Amino acid sequence: MRVVTRFAPAPTGRLHVGNMRTAIHNWLWAKKHGGRFILRLDDTDRERSREDHVEAIRADLAWLGLAPDEEHRQSARFDRYDAALERLKAAGRVYPAYETAQELDLKRKVQLGRGKPPVYDRAALSLTEAERATLEAEGRRPHWRFRLDHAAPIGWDDLVRGPQHFDPALLSDPVVRREDGSWLYMLPSALDDIELGVTHVVRGEDHVANTALQVQMFEALGAPAPAFAHEALLVGAEGKLSKRLGSLGVEALRAEGIEPAALVAKLARIGTSLPVEPFVEPGPLIETFDFATFGRAPARFDLAELAGLNARIVHLLPYEKVRARLPEGMSEADWLAVRPNLRTVAEAAEWWDILHGHVAAPPAADDAGFLREAAAAAAAVDWSADPWRQLVDLLKARTGRTGKALFHPLRGALTGRDSGPEMAVLLPLIGREEAIARLGG
Ligand code: GLU
Repeated sequence: MRVVTRFAPAPTGRLHVGNMRTAIHNWLWAKKHGGRFILRLDDTDRERSREDHVEAIRADLAWLGLAPDEEHRQSARFDRYDAALERLKAAGRVYPAYETAQELDLKRKVQLGRGKPPVYDRAALSLTEAERATLEAEGRRPHWRFRLDHAAPIGWDDLVRGPQHFDPALLSDPVVRREDGSWLYMLPSALDDIELGVTHVVRGEDHVANTALQVQMFEALGAPAPAFAHEALLVGAEGKLSKRLGSLGVEALRAEGIEPAALVAKLARIGTSLPVEPFVEPGPLIETFDFATFGRAPARFDLAELAGLNARIVHLLPYEKVRARLPEGMSEADWLAVRPNLRTVAEAAEWWDILHGHVAAPPAADDAGFLREAAAAAAAVDWSADPWRQLVDLLKARTGRTGKALFHPLRGALTGRDSGPEMAVLLPLIGREEAIARLGG
């Protein structure tokens, strides 16, 4: 079986970390099996779907490195949905209903008042031809409901949640098309999954109840249901899906210097039994991806942890991956020297200035003499082989200083900072003339 997955966002907004995680999981599963990963834009809601969101979704997936093998749009498939509805009408699996939202609301209140579950009573099923004609003559338009088969218990073996069972008699026949002709997402989605050959539906557990209904839709449409994996939801460090998390998108993360690899490495594994590790390339994530490792508890997404993982990934990024984002002229040696000290790639620019630009560090007055010695020593050492080691050895011998008293003023004068990358690595990059000048020579 060729694995086909799909990521199906509605282009009514930008992607946030929650749906990026779903996209990543769909992509990883397809890659692991040499399958196809489809981007399906669920744009049946014509008013709320926007072209700029479509473009942003494509750009965000590209930034994450999740290239879809195919793209489809529900808005281009309305004729397919019409045809499917006609088939289901002919088979008696959908029926027109005329209740208004207020009438349905009232029914629910009455049921609840009697201590009954608020399941649709199927009153529309018993309307006679004449009653329907009367309603239509009054100007009422029907909405369409899918008739669940109460004799066919619903079940599937969820790849994350294990065996799932639902009694269709306890579920309302779902509305699939509104009276204005617009589609609700469920039937189009099931039909798309069939026609696009989707083998695995990977999505959030907020869709479990929809899946129960869709399992019967697949069957009514004459196709086997795909496999389902419903992942536990994403919550913030505080244990809830915060507003921040629900709207946290690529733009904001990127502005904070988060690397796509960090986001992929994090989102691929939180909520699973596998450790979150700093992978620069997705290969190991693909290889180890397994729904059996997914937990049932909500996955906790902590921004501080993401920042930490990001730093670990920055420390591993090869020059060719960051080159385009570094200051003009920054060499591989410069990058490798400063990389261990960065939290984001953008911070390399500060170190670039320190290496090759202007350093303003007024030396402490009581170090002035020491720094004059240092400038003289820097002029005396052989710069072709480990000048830092020679410089400190010479200064130890000439001044008797050791430890902090030796290193601290040197680092301060040479970099303008109290801490930073190894001086042995930085000094040759600063270069002889500049170093002597910074030491006041
Ligand atoms: N458009 C639906 C959503 O974003 C898709 C759910 C699905 O994956 O089927 O919730």
